[in-house]
Amino acid sequence: MSAIYGAIEAGGTKFVLACGRGPGELLEERTLPTTTPEETLGASVAWFREVQGRHGELAGIGVGTFGPAGVHEGAADWGWITTTPKAGWRDTDVAGYVGRGLGLPVAFDTDVNAAALGEWLWGAGVGCEVVLYLTVGTGIGGGVVMGGKPLHGVLHPEMGHVRTARAAGDEFAGVCPWHRDCLEGMASGPAIGARWGRPAGELPPGHEAWELEAHYLAEACTGFLCTLSPQRVILGGGVMGVPGLLERVRAGVRERLGGYLQHPLYSGGLEDCVVAPGLGTRSGILGALALARELVQPASQLASSDYVGKH
Ligand code: ZN
Repeated sequence: MSAIYGAIEAGGTKFVLACGRGPGELLEERTLPTTTPEETLGASVAWFREVQGRHGELAGIGVGTFGPAGVHEGAADWGWITTTPKAGWRDTDVAGYVGRGLGLPVAFDTDVNAAALGEWLWGAGVGCEVVLYLTVGTGIGGGVVMGGKPLHGVLHPEMGHVRTARAAGDEFAGVCPWHRDCLEGMASGPAIGARWGRPAGELPPGHEAWELEAHYLAEACTGFLCTLSPQRVILGGGVMGVPGLLERVRAGVRERLGGYLQHPLYSGGLEDCVVAPGLGTRSGILGALALARELVQPASQLASSDYVGKH
C-alpha cells in the first residue's frame, strides 16, 4: 500500500484539509473557518490526529497558503505566513505548528505554487517544463513550477501585482491598497464588484464587465508568456468560472502577441496553451497534497528534451 499524505489549503476565509494519495484517492476531507491561528491550526492538527487513528500514520503534510509567506527552507521565516494584512495572522509559524503538533515532515509553499505543482503532477501541466497557475478570485495570484520545482526567487512570485495597460476609456481607480491599479486592483473579484456596483457573481455572462476583465487578464498573460515561456498558463479561481471568459482571454492574448511567438503551442486559438485547470476547482488542495508527495517521494525528473513544447 502506497503512502498517505496530508494536505492543507490555507485560505483567508477557510482551511481545506484532506488526506490521501492523489486525485481520485482522497480518503477524507474537512473544511474549517479561518479564525485565529491558535484555533484554526489547533483544529487542523486535531483532525489529522483523528485521521491517523483511522488510516495509519501519514508520510508528510503539504501546506499551500495565502501569503505573503516564507518559502525558503533554512530561512528564519520558513513556513510562516509573514506580512499578511489579515488580522491575527501576521508572522504565524504555520509549518512549525503543524510539524511539531504531528511530528511529521511538512512541505510549505504559496497556494498558487502548490496549485501549479498539483497541475504539473496530475492536471493540465503534465509533461510540461514550465507551468504557470494564475488564480482570479478574491485576489489574483500566480505560481510557477519549473522542472518540477516551485519557483521562489527572493520571496515568491507576486503575479497579481504586475501592472497592465489600461483599457481605452477605463477610469476606474483600482482597489489594491498598495498600487491601486495593478492587475489585482483592476481585475480581482472585489475590483469587479467595486467597478460595477454589485458582486461579480451577479453580473451576467453578456455584461460588458467581462470584455474589460478579459482585457486585463490578456495583458497579464501576454506578459507572462513573453517572460517565462510557459507551456501552460492555467487560469483558475472563481472569476474564471464565467462562461466565455477563458475564450475571450485567449483571443486577447493572441491579438497582443501579434504573431510574434512561433510554435505549434501558439497556433490556432491558444487552446493548448492558455487553459482551464485540469484538476477543476481542486488544484489548491491537490496541490498541497502534491507538495507533501514531492517532499517524501519526488517524481522522477524529466530531462529537458522530454518535455512537450521542445524545439
Ligand atoms: Zn497591487
